[in-house]
Amino acid sequence: MQEFKNFINGQFVTTERGQTFENRNPVDNSLIGLVHEAGRAEVDAAVQAARAAMQGPWGKMTQQQRIALLDKVANRINERFDEFLEAECKDTGKPYKIASHIDIPRGAANFKAFSETLANHPTEAFKLDTPDGASALNYGHRTPKGVIAVISPWNLPLLLMTWKVGPALACGNTVVVKPSEETPATATLLGDVMNECGVPEGVYNVVHGFGPDSAGAFLTEHKGVDAITFTGETRTGETIMRAASVGLRNISLECGGKNPGIVFADCDMDKAIEGTLRSAFVNCGQVCLGTERVYVERPIFEAFVQRLKAGAEKLKMGRPQDADVDFGPLVSQEHKEKVLSYYRLAVEEGAQVITGGGVPDMGADLEAGAWVEPTIWTGLADDARVIREEIFGPCCHIRPFDTEEEVIALANDTDYGLSAAVWTENSSRASRVAEQLEVGICWVNSWFLRDLRTAFGGAKQSGIGREGGVHGLEFYTELKNICIKL
Ligand code: NAD
Repeated sequence: MQEFKNFINGQFVTTERGQTFENRNPVDNSLIGLVHEAGRAEVDAAVQAARAAMQGPWGKMTQQQRIALLDKVANRINERFDEFLEAECKDTGKPYKIASHIDIPRGAANFKAFSETLANHPTEAFKLDTPDGASALNYGHRTPKGVIAVISPWNLPLLLMTWKVGPALACGNTVVVKPSEETPATATLLGDVMNECGVPEGVYNVVHGFGPDSAGAFLTEHKGVDAITFTGETRTGETIMRAASVGLRNISLECGGKNPGIVFADCDMDKAIEGTLRSAFVNCGQVCLGTERVYVERPIFEAFVQRLKAGAEKLKMGRPQDADVDFGPLVSQEHKEKVLSYYRLAVEEGAQVITGGGVPDMGADLEAGAWVEPTIWTGLADDARVIREEIFGPCCHIRPFDTEEEVIALANDTDYGLSAAVWTENSSRASRVAEQLEVGICWVNSWFLRDLRTAFGGAKQSGIGREGGVHGLEFYTELKNICIKL
């Protein structure tokens, strides 16, 4: 049985109270191991270690030295690729096929991508005229913000955590990470990699536990934390924002979505079907950017529904190790219950179930796992809860539309504003529609195509702030103006 310890000041530690919780594999509900739940004492030790590290060798390193160290971290993750892959797939149940292409390589790349961008980004400079004629020189100078709390979710555990840790460290901060209670493994393994690469103690710390009255709350409420970056549900984001208001600490929030896919009759149907299948079902629908509301122009509505149904029914579910598997279970029993409650609600709200809607027969071995069927509905009213609330499962609703104005209004009729996908071969229409959608990222004829140099974040209740590329500088550094009277 594995043990997942906290990683504090370069050491793997259990907890003062000896408190543990179970980590189970969602494929068959088998026990992976026990996780040591950090209490206030461990969270405090982690924050103190992170603060002390700012004054130690880390704080004295040049930017180039830090970048070289982070490069080593990226390379070491790739050298230990198989261990990261196994750990991530055990925790989440996702297919190796997906995690080996997305989660682990992108998790490693996050330690390289931002370093270069941040190092090469200039600050501003202004010469100011003064009455004596001698003038003054102003220039911007960036310093690290300090100790950053990183609160991350379970759907892409390593990738979404390093998406924050990479730029935080590249900017010279130190971090205390609170991974999701569902997926403690890769954050813990990364502690070992940090030690192997010679990252000074206290720079990267991990505390395990839950949200309220546990490590998550203890960390975000800790006065020694200078800023909090969070990815997760919008309601949790609100709680974290309240915690951050004490001491006026900065936040970056990447929250939920209820993303539209808009399919015009002039689309390339093959591309639209392939893209929508991925955006609705990949990672068992547990992608914040995924499409749960699909709007299809009426002339191609029936054909689209039939082709998406055929595609969904071909998806193969199974064990992560099987090479031809497209689809794993949901992350946990609790999440399975939540998704199934929406499957029942859809029927109560009058949906026509085009495919799925229940639990697949996975055989006796996998019966206890968190499996649900990929599901497609039509016929729901625009105010149905299934249309308005984020489900975060392998499901979507398809509705016909008649005009561009109508579909823009429908797409924007949501509290969320994370992403959208537009399918059309008319590029004027594509940009006209994209510009009117109230989202942080809009794909045209693609989905989840990410250039790490670009801004990432949500509009409306999908988040606050932008990370990615140089945009992370706003959050991970303090910009000071230095004014020199000449
Ligand atoms: P969650 O909000 O339940 O948990 C996220 C993290 O917050 C976990 O580590 C959890 O332990 C912690 N947490 C919970 N309550 C807390 C509290 N009171 N104080 C401090 N920490 C607390 O989210 P989840 O279920 O892990 O993830 C799924 C959600 O994440 C979905 O809503 C999804 O859309 C969103 N998400 C958003 C993005 C994005 O980039 N916008 C990316 C991935 C996931």
